[in-house]
Amino acid sequence: MARIVMKFGGTSVADIARIRNVARHVKREVDAGHEVAVVVSAMSGKTNELIAWVQDASKAEGSNLHIYDAREYDAVVASGEQVTSGLLALTLQAMGVNARSWQGWQIPIKTDGAHGAARIADIDGSFLIKRFGEGQVAVVAGFQGIAPDNRLSTLGRGGSDTSAVAIAAAVKADRCDIYTDVDGVYTTDPRIEPKARRLSKISFEEMLEMASLGAKVLQVRSVELAMVHRVRTFVRSSFEDPDAPGMGDLLNPPGTLICDEEEIVEQQVVTGIAYAKDEAQISLRRVADRPGVSAGIFGPLAEANINVDMIVQNISEDGKFTDITFTVPSGDLDKALFVLGKVKETIGFDAVQSEPGMSKVSVIGIGMRSHAGVAATAFKALADKSINIRAITTSEIKISILIDGPYTELAVRTLHSVYGLDKQ
Ligand code: ADP
Ligand code: ASP
Ligand code: MG
Repeated sequence: MARIVMKFGGTSVADIARIRNVARHVKREVDAGHEVAVVVSAMSGKTNELIAWVQDASKAEGSNLHIYDAREYDAVVASGEQVTSGLLALTLQAMGVNARSWQGWQIPIKTDGAHGAARIADIDGSFLIKRFGEGQVAVVAGFQGIAPDNRLSTLGRGGSDTSAVAIAAAVKADRCDIYTDVDGVYTTDPRIEPKARRLSKISFEEMLEMASLGAKVLQVRSVELAMVHRVRTFVRSSFEDPDAPGMGDLLNPPGTLICDEEEIVEQQVVTGIAYAKDEAQISLRRVADRPGVSAGIFGPLAEANINVDMIVQNISEDGKFTDITFTVPSGDLDKALFVLGKVKETIGFDAVQSEPGMSKVSVIGIGMRSHAGVAATAFKALADKSINIRAITTSEIKISILIDGPYTELAVRTLHSVYGLDKQ
């Protein structure tokens, strides 16, 4: 007997027929004698719809600005997962499986107070362990918890992955299965590059980079938790026949295992390509070149909760002025320009130039630590396709390149192919 946490994403619970299929996956594990807890997302498209309602409702009359109360945002968007948890519990009951739905606050899944992007602070596993003891499948609403102000909180987009891994850590599960609409983690987004290959294993470090650089198959925080708490996490498909051979394999279920790099025998130099669309580039021209200037610019941006990503600063020619370029999510561009307008006087710079619609394409691989020339290969391959590079950042195991948005797909496919990742 094993203890398994199963998470099902939005497309997997998009309608009642799919919820029935999910219930068959759950029943398979229950019938095999395992202790099972399930985490569900909202039906696909539901969270977007709820967010659009929040924005619409909070528009001041005669204005297009929608600055909303994050506590009420949470109250509204957490409802999507409430619906699917109840529906899955009902479906399981109809199949003769003892099941009950639970909301985040009932477990409780305690979070910090950052409404809209909360972090899980603590889950006492004993509540769920008691359910296992009663032979009951707990169906937990993902994405939500309870904040110190005793109100509902949500964990940021894609947060049900994090709910699942955190619950798996809290109940010391043998496995956490993230069921989604693809059958594992691929060398790049299979929707963009059909030649992408499924990886049987990927290291925690590489998965962290892939997720934070745009591969939305797992929320970044879920990978961090899996790494820290040593949760054996698989990404696998909910669309396969729940009773096909091998689906119930305890040690090697079909899918991708996120694991220590030591567990991976055939390590490639480059493991995957990720991309993030909708980046905006901001350049400050003729910025005074003196100590404290960067703090004066990026401090206020951070205070306004704007996520600054790539930062490039020129060495100044005359020791007096320099240029600084950085990127923010396109959705934060107006807010960033507003903040910069306020600090312009104190910092001293000539002009702000900005451009939305940029993309960041990244090459990821632990093998880069010990191989030279990986970056040069990328630059040449992009140049051969006449793709202009606007900015570059690197770390030990990744290279990120900022390009014009319309070239995203071409750049991803070009890099995927040049590093030999295409399916044979
Ligand atoms: P869910 O609703 O199940 O949480 P998501 O839409 O959040 O599913 O994540 C799954 C999607 O992630 C896939 O449909 C795929 O398009 C995308 N994706 C991006 N990069 C990758 C990758 N490297 N491997 C697999 N899927 C990826
Ligand atoms: N429903 C939430 C979202 O769409 C959480 C999740 O699906 O993981 O972001
Ligand atoms: Mg997701």
